[in-house]
Amino acid sequence: MIKFENVDVVYPNGFRGLNDINLEIHQGEFVAIIGLSGAGKSTLIRAVNGLVPYTNGTLTVGDTVVDPRNKSKLRKLRSKVGMIFQQFNNVGRISVLNNVLIGRSAFTPTWRSLIGWYGSHDREVAFQSLERVGIVEKSYNRAAALSGGQQQRVAIARVLAQDPEVILADEPVASLDPPTARKVLGDLRTIQRDLGITCVVNMHHLDLARDYADRIIGMRNGEVVFDGATQDATEDVIADVYQRPRSADDATQVQGGAGLREDAENATEADLNGPVTGSGNDSERKDIA
Ligand code: ADP
Repeated sequence: MIKFENVDVVYPNGFRGLNDINLEIHQGEFVAIIGLSGAGKSTLIRAVNGLVPYTNGTLTVGDTVVDPRNKSKLRKLRSKVGMIFQQFNNVGRISVLNNVLIGRSAFTPTWRSLIGWYGSHDREVAFQSLERVGIVEKSYNRAAALSGGQQQRVAIARVLAQDPEVILADEPVASLDPPTARKVLGDLRTIQRDLGITCVVNMHHLDLARDYADRIIGMRNGEVVFDGATQDATEDVIADVYQRPRSADDATQVQGGAGLREDAENATEADLNGPVTGSGNDSERKDIA
């Protein structure tokens, strides 16, 4: 279980990225985090594995309190919490198999993983992981030679090879075309169902959240403004999360004036109906740990 108790994140420049988050995510749930760009989705996900240090409250994963200052504890935590990024984060020049073997690092002495010397059991696990995401025949291809969807599958296989309890995915399909995005989310869904791995996935695109998640958490301005079963995420709820004006009259009343109105209009087009597009986020931009 992932538990947030009164968790805040205040960035070094004083900006409050998360404000008093209280959440419990149970083992084996598939949770989508939705909200406008800048709502705090990525900050929330990255707090869980200590990529973004939280500054107040308590955050636990299973029995472990996330302690971003304790590097060895953090390393141990991250071996159980796999992370997938929008930009895949594969090593392009090495083979697909060797990328997936990186997921076995926690089970291998550091000096051996540094020279890429993994045992036969590790290789077997890596092949099984690649098989699960349907690209085992690409094992000996260079990762960079694969399509975007295939590269994201390599990233999923690497995380699977870790034998994780939790998979955190920060906009994992934002760079993919809609059919490929659906295939990748379908893979994550199958993994969650078959292996009981908790999946927490940031999604800019509401339709995908509706189609793949058990539970939706809606964020706005660093706060959770909706948390419920997917079927309870009604149009009204969604309009509130996205601060989407419901009519031309409402548009003039959207809190915060022009800036927010612009966000709301963008939300109507891009978040609710538009194509799945990249947000241009650099996956490591907030790695300030
Ligand atoms: P989302 O994932 O919903 O787009 P983020 O979690 O990336 O939102 O960002 C939430 C807010 O925190 C945004 O306003 C963003 O500009 C701000 N933010 C993110 N990273 C930093 C940082 N390193 N320093 C200061 N502010 C940041």
